[in-house]
Amino acid sequence: MEWNIPTLKELEEKIWKCTACGNCKSAYDYGPPPEFGEICPPGVAFGFEGYLASKGKIAFARGILSGELEWDEELVDAIYKCTVCAGCANQCELDHKPYIPEIIEAMRRKAVEDSVGPMPSQKKIVQSMKSYDNPYQGPRRVRTDWTRPFKKAKKPIKDINKEPAPILYFVGCTGAFNLPVRGVPVATASIFQKLGLDFGILGQNEICCGSTAMRIGEADEFKRVAEANLKTFRKLHEEKGVNTIVTSCAGCYRAIKKDYTLSSDYDKMMEGITVIHTVEFLYNLYKEGKMNFSGGLPWKVTYHDPCHTGRHLNKYKFDVDGTIAWKDAYLETDQSECLYDIPRELLKAIPGIELIEMERIKDNSYCCGGGGGVMTGYGDWAAKNASLRIEEGMNTGAEYMISICPFCHYNLNEGSKRIGSSMKLYDLVELIDQVLPETEEA
Ligand code: SF4
Ligand code: SF4
Repeated sequence: MEWNIPTLKELEEKIWKCTACGNCKSAYDYGPPPEFGEICPPGVAFGFEGYLASKGKIAFARGILSGELEWDEELVDAIYKCTVCAGCANQCELDHKPYIPEIIEAMRRKAVEDSVGPMPSQKKIVQSMKSYDNPYQGPRRVRTDWTRPFKKAKKPIKDINKEPAPILYFVGCTGAFNLPVRGVPVATASIFQKLGLDFGILGQNEICCGSTAMRIGEADEFKRVAEANLKTFRKLHEEKGVNTIVTSCAGCYRAIKKDYTLSSDYDKMMEGITVIHTVEFLYNLYKEGKMNFSGGLPWKVTYHDPCHTGRHLNKYKFDVDGTIAWKDAYLETDQSECLYDIPRELLKAIPGIELIEMERIKDNSYCCGGGGGVMTGYGDWAAKNASLRIEEGMNTGAEYMISICPFCHYNLNEGSKRIGSSMKLYDLVELIDQVLPETEEA
């Protein structure tokens, strides 16, 4: 399988488009009155220009390419102290805008190639993936521990390796191995069973999607698991009738939907298969009148937009032949695949829920602070970042913060505990499961 993952050198032309204007340092609302807010977690924490937004990162990329900068501990640290949240890319309006997260990750790939990356604590991610096919050093048998309540209740979840089903629920490593967020797969499977959906899981045969490996520059490990997953998806389609892959993890969703398209075989392997986030899948059923809620939750909630179900799903329009502006000019951003309104509409559909928005939302959402390998590389700092987001949520008067990413959920929970906040974290599926009666039929 061939992969079109660009090197830093291949992105050089894009890198030189940056004018160092600095617009990427803050999230702007042009008003009136004009306002701006912080958007870059390392910029907030460390201030120093090199850590701050794409302006700093691109300056590093130029230095590395020209040879003016040589790898040292500080440079590697600055490149890895970035959550690859794409908040900076959201502010830039020049032609390299769409490539900014790619430029940051290409620098990391170069660091790995030159044997200076990833950060020492991130190396265990790769080691664990090689040994266990997950980044959490969890034995394979633990992957299905969350299914125990279903077995006990005599409502076992179908093993798709053995029985056919049109829907594969791709659980993801975070929901399966991370105890505090196991409620996410439990609620998802419970909802699917209540709706009478014919679905199955890969169980102990599920392997990591490769998202974290890709984010930290470990392209070879990403390719290994991505190729294995694409082959599994094809086999499941042909032999078990799978036509829909549903995932409740924002990282898996972004990886399968976007990173996997870098494979030359993507269209062939995914023909006849749709990848969809749980929330969009449930929203479609809700709109078709196949999912109705009963009872209610009299909760004041705020909603955190994960970067991987938001800005990372942007599509960009270019002037391909130069007839509108100039050849390859960036024209506009298409946000139609970003999950901004769908989770909000579902939240509002739950009787009793009062949604109070934070200041930085949707494409200007402030990252939970743990992405891009930061939670493993710099755990304490990731939790500090999350505390800032929790404080923003607390300022709304909400008692609960809802999201649709187990990874954000875990990190925000750590951030809440760190400052002794009473803010509780829930995934949207956990709320839906509470108000969905047993009797629904899809
Ligand atoms: S990345 Fe874009 S917004 Fe940031 S300094 Fe460069 S041109 Fe300006
Ligand atoms: S991707 Fe996010 S964390 Fe990284 S430089 Fe841009 S705004 Fe900062």
